[in-house]
Amino acid sequence: MRKDINGKIIEIIKGDITRQDDMEAIVNAANARLLTGGGVAGAIYRAAGPELVKESEPLGPIKPDEAVITKAYNLPNQYIIHCLGPVYGLDKPEDILLANCYRNSLQLADNKGIASIAFPAISTGAFGYPLAGAAAVALNTITDQTETLENVKIIRMVLFSETDLNTHVEILQDIFGR
Ligand code: ADP
Repeated sequence: MRKDINGKIIEIIKGDITRQDDMEAIVNAANARLLTGGGVAGAIYRAAGPELVKESEPLGPIKPDEAVITKAYNLPNQYIIHCLGPVYGLDKPEDILLANCYRNSLQLADNKGIASIAFPAISTGAFGYPLAGAAAVALNTITDQTETLENVKIIRMVLFSETDLNTHVEILQDIFGR
């Protein structure tokens, strides 16, 4: 699914965040210490290679909603933006922290002059954020941010499963139906 708004494109696809060859930056659903882990972080650190942790670890620990940027090493992208999402039920208010995570990542990308960025569904794996709630926060925040972004032109959400994809498609349709 693809929507045009404020001269920007929002895309929602099913896929793997480490296989977004046409994106200048990808976002890591990071852990606080900026080390490898499971899920998205595990896949990104494996694909990027051992140089990534040497650059990322000294930038940590980071707090929920904080975003930092590194190079992407063996990944096909130029940059990785690492954002720590909230742990559901622990870091509160979860919705504000999750929205800030998307906002801060987009702002950091924009400040760097990045034109295209792909996000996974931050906090919806190990961090336990219910998918539909997280999707609404993510897509509303991304849609709102299209008003102010100057360099970022394409924002893609990459969902790992068909179910997660369908949830995001329905919510983006609702947002555009407003
Ligand atoms: P968090 O710790 O922020 O919850 P996770 O990495 O555990 O992050 O999961 C975030 C979401 O990303 C989950 O919905 C998970 O299914 C999905 N996911 C896991 N691996 C990948 C991948 N390689 N590409 C895209 N999405 C992925």
